[in-house]
Amino acid sequence: MPKMIRNVLSSLFKKPATAMYPVKKREWYAATRGHIEIDQDRCILCGICSRKCPASAITIDKTARTWTIDRMACVQCGYCAESCPKQCLTVKNEYTAPDTVKVTYTVTVPAKPKVPTETPSS
Ligand code: SF4
Ligand code: SF4
Repeated sequence: MPKMIRNVLSSLFKKPATAMYPVKKREWYAATRGHIEIDQDRCILCGICSRKCPASAITIDKTARTWTIDRMACVQCGYCAESCPKQCLTVKNEYTAPDTVKVTYTVTVPAKPKVPTETPSS
């Protein structure tokens, strides 16, 4: 009993151990693995990220030029970002917002301008 009273009295003069969420939002740590983002302008639709993904969360449609991620299937391992030859995938440090339905996120990859090839003149 005396120990408990001592604890209660000392706690009265300490700062609270918890933050006043949502008034005071918590900062993400820099190394937090959150959601994957893509810079579609650099993507070449090679499909490596899709093949390497252990959760089969990424789908590539080369005909429609789309890159799709099933955020609810993604386990935030970051392997796709490590494997991308164009470094166009980034692991952001914010989590995907909770939802009541499974949502997928799709981006359309713009077509790259064709590089003209030089032919030797005769
Ligand atoms: S690995 Fe990179 S360049 Fe290839 S399809 Fe995925 S995001 Fe695009
Ligand atoms: S972070 Fe991992 S699970 Fe998520 S899409 Fe990339 S490879 Fe797949």
